[in-house]
Amino acid sequence: MSDKPKTISIDEFHWHIGLLKNLHEGLVVIDKNYRIQLWNDFMANHSGHTASEVLDQPLFSLFPELPEQWLRRKMQMVFTLRNRAFITWQERPRLFNFKADRPFSGESKLMHQNLTLIPLTSPNGQVEHLGLIIDDMTDAATSHLQLAQANRELQVLSRTDSLTGLNNRGYWEECLEHEYNRFLRSEQPCCLVMLDIDHFKTINDTYGHPAGDKAIRALSELIRRHIRNTDIAGRYGGEEFGILLPDTRDTQAEVLAERLRLAVQGLEITHRDHQSFVFTVSLGIAQATLDDSDHDHWLRRADQALYQSKLQGRDRTTLL
Ligand code: GH3
Ligand code: MG
Ligand code: MG
Repeated sequence: MSDKPKTISIDEFHWHIGLLKNLHEGLVVIDKNYRIQLWNDFMANHSGHTASEVLDQPLFSLFPELPEQWLRRKMQMVFTLRNRAFITWQERPRLFNFKADRPFSGESKLMHQNLTLIPLTSPNGQVEHLGLIIDDMTDAATSHLQLAQANRELQVLSRTDSLTGLNNRGYWEECLEHEYNRFLRSEQPCCLVMLDIDHFKTINDTYGHPAGDKAIRALSELIRRHIRNTDIAGRYGGEEFGILLPDTRDTQAEVLAERLRLAVQGLEITHRDHQSFVFTVSLGIAQATLDDSDHDHWLRRADQALYQSKLQGRDRTTLL
């Protein structure tokens, strides 16, 4: 038996080349001067440059869109440490700006790629070449990005009141706690307005539940139009709403509350095309103080203010 190392036959060599050419991954070999030494069909098809056009050409001059500094550093590490490097599409969506074979609507129409850099040892034991493998990860990235988008939409839905589109009670209470803690840290004035429709039972009884719903929706829209982007409105109960006003002191909150109250007076709800009705709201305001034991205590004070408005005849604002 001979222990001579097995040499590769011409046939085998051709098979290897055939396999490399037809792989569904991009294969590139570069030398220490970043000149291209191998360029398979995947690379030719997606780049529009045939192997004969690119062979012996410098990689970075041919593809100026490549992140040269970053890639040189990565490649130097592979040459020096003789270790492979792997960069996922999550870290860097792509190396080459290739078009995706199956572009999907909305998201990027460019291919997502995983990149592997491999040190290639020559027969003399030196690492003078480096292999790049480019994996088309577009399908995986598509599913991943669609799932992430669905999760974001679900998260918004789980925070939203379906009748009004405002924040629902659970999420609004989280915001309330967050704003109270922010107030404790910053001591910037922060106000809370609670608001409840007057005699809503009578509206439901007189015009029916759908008309009541319409009033709730119209009021929500009116609140949305009157507040700032940074204010946080939520539907606290059936026809009760809470509005958080960061960086706002009680006198400013009172101006907003009164503006809202008067706007509601002018809001006419048309029901079944011919019936219409108006309604009023009562409001209560509390500015956060260091004496509040927690956010719940702050909320209870705003509720007490609202209760005072009800007791004193409704359609009014009380500041406590
Ligand atoms: P007050 O002036 O004291 O607030 O009187 P009110 O009649 O508004 O009293 P209350 O707050 O107790 O009544 C709220 C009513 O709102 C009771 C409930 O049937 C009705 N309600 C709660 N949620 C909804 C809803 O989503 N749609 C409709 N149409 N009605 C609702
Ligand atoms: Mg009410
Ligand atoms: Mg109520």
